[in-house]
Amino acid sequence: MPTYTPPLRDMQFVMHELLNVVDELKMLPAHADIDADTINAVLEEGGKFCAEVIAPLNLSGDAEGCKLDKTTHEVTPPKGFKEAYKQYVEGGWPALSCDPAYGGQGLPVLVNQGMYEMMNSANQAWTMYPGLSHGAYEALHAHGTPEQKSTYLTKLTSGEWTGTMCLTEPHCGTDLGLLRTKAEPQADGTYKITGQKIFISAGEHDLAENIVHLVLARLPDAPAGSKGISLFIVPKFLVNADGTLGARNGIFCAGLEHKMGIHANSTCQMVLEDAIGTMVGEPNKGLAAMFVMMNAARLGVGNQSLGLTEVAYQNAAAYAKDRIQMRALSGPKAPDKAADPIIVHPDVRKMLLTARAYAEGGRALSTYVALQLDKALSSDDEDERKECEAEVALLTPIIKAFLTDNGWIATSHCMQVFGGHGFIHEWGMEQFVRDARINMIYEGTNTIQSLDLLGRKVLGNNGATLKKFGKKIASFVEEEGTSEAMQEFINPLADLGDKVTKLTTEIGMKAFQNPDEVGAAAVDYLRVVGHLCFAYFFARSAKIALEKQGSGDPFYTAKLHTARFYFAKLLPETASLIRTARAGLQPLMAMDEALF
Ligand SMILES: Cc1cc2nc3c(=O)[nH]c(=O)nc-3n(C[C@H](O)[C@H](O)[C@H](O)COP(=O)(O)OP(=O)(O)OC[C@H]3O[C@@H](n4cnc5c(N)ncnc54)[C@H](O)[C@@H]3O)c2cc1C
Repeated sequence: MPTYTPPLRDMQFVMHELLNVVDELKMLPAHADIDADTINAVLEEGGKFCAEVIAPLNLSGDAEGCKLDKTTHEVTPPKGFKEAYKQYVEGGWPALSCDPAYGGQGLPVLVNQGMYEMMNSANQAWTMYPGLSHGAYEALHAHGTPEQKSTYLTKLTSGEWTGTMCLTEPHCGTDLGLLRTKAEPQADGTYKITGQKIFISAGEHDLAENIVHLVLARLPDAPAGSKGISLFIVPKFLVNADGTLGARNGIFCAGLEHKMGIHANSTCQMVLEDAIGTMVGEPNKGLAAMFVMMNAARLGVGNQSLGLTEVAYQNAAAYAKDRIQMRALSGPKAPDKAADPIIVHPDVRKMLLTARAYAEGGRALSTYVALQLDKALSSDDEDERKECEAEVALLTPIIKAFLTDNGWIATSHCMQVFGGHGFIHEWGMEQFVRDARINMIYEGTNTIQSLDLLGRKVLGNNGATLKKFGKKIASFVEEEGTSEAMQEFINPLADLGDKVTKLTTEIGMKAFQNPDEVGAAAVDYLRVVGHLCFAYFFARSAKIALEKQGSGDPFYTAKLHTARFYFAKLLPETASLIRTARAGLQPLMAMDEALF
């Protein structure tokens, strides 16, 4: 069975040495009293919950899966899940970064982000039960009426109730404008909602006493397409005026999907038959309200793959030191043993270091974005709020797609390190690969994320937000440009920055002629910009590691080696990506459809 050790040291490095989050957070009135000890203590305690309570349920949960009782429509998750959830609620973990006005602990988003990384390492499928609740909490916090907030937010904050997002229908996934679920207004101000949703994560289970479904549906007179979609709260049990649970609502699970991974999370086909709901936000503007939840979920999905990358790396590294096979090409390294440990072989090291670099780069980028999110939510300076919001919007598709593509590569490499044993269930490695695969698909496929980045977030405002982020990189390059020790990092970083600027302009020009050029270049483009972000944070990390070389702490030596590996072996991938992005539309569209 895989093991998991919370990566507290690297989390502390990222938060306190790389990003100096405490100084930044203290500027925000909501977090004026925050200190490093509090952050560290919360994550240490949270790490214990992850390693000791939910990690041991990961393998058994995958083997057991969820069960649906077709007569009652009740779903039972695997053994131990309910008890673990009870412990999670009793520990106050759902409330970590929620608003104190609704019983939350008011801690920064970045603390919650760290907690979720560890939960995802320990058990992604289990983590999706509370994970979606937090997105529902955020959508209602931003768009709910005072009554909706007082009815639902306290319960979501405490974890007594969980949430879902019900968007997808059999004929509509990416294109939500096609959705058909209907909402009929009632005389009492509520709506009767009828339709079918599929693939609803945590759509039904017995972990919490109520489930708050956030459902997209159409009013009778709604315009066609995405401008005619409204958002509704549809609770599993109706809620009485005094907050107690009332009758069972007309929303139930009609089937469970049999899927490649995350077996322990219930992926439900949900049927709505005259289900009673209340509208969130304005009529026909549901998609905008739902976007709060979708953006939170996109960052959350990137975090899922970050967690899997870390846990897969830890297990593969331990295995590679233990497993002996063959001798090093340069002669025995462990002459006392019958063969050398496989960690002596260069390609095994390459696989391990790839996973390690993707975990460390992903953690730095995610924590940085979480910090910008804290500023966007809590700064008392409107300009700063807006600027941070724009930067989070720019980086969200990168976190979602780059980290999940990397997670797929990393978990696959780590499985490979185990040889044939990696393919066998009991070692847990093949589960990480299967679980990682969905992260590239849901919450908007990675193709859709790349279109969002290049089309909307970059070309949509003539590169203004990207330029602002680029200035941060440029000023670091400027500051470190004369440091000899930093040349190996600064030169490729500066070079890639220039290339991204040129590539963006070139695609922008081509897109004027034919908008499909954006679709032809977007996936490669996102990966290039993802590498630019990683290169920036690895260069900054390397600077600190170089300064601390005399400290004798092996953490900094390892950080420097990982940064060097990243620049030497992973970053150069950008050269071929830029080339394929520039190759444009023609090779893709030249062949007649009939020839496929
Ligand atoms: C396990 C699981 C859990 C899920 N959980 C939820 C949930 O909780 N709530 C929920 O509402 N949904 C959920 N989903 C649905 C998920 O978000 C969708 O599957 C996903 O958004 C893709 O939609 P689709 O499956 O209909 O694919 P389609 O939209 O049919 O896309 C098919 C392919 O076409 C590509 N494509 C589509 N449009 C374009 C375009 N414009 N340009 C380029 N390529 C394009 C896509 O990238 C994809 O490769 C879940 C799905 C799964 C499998």
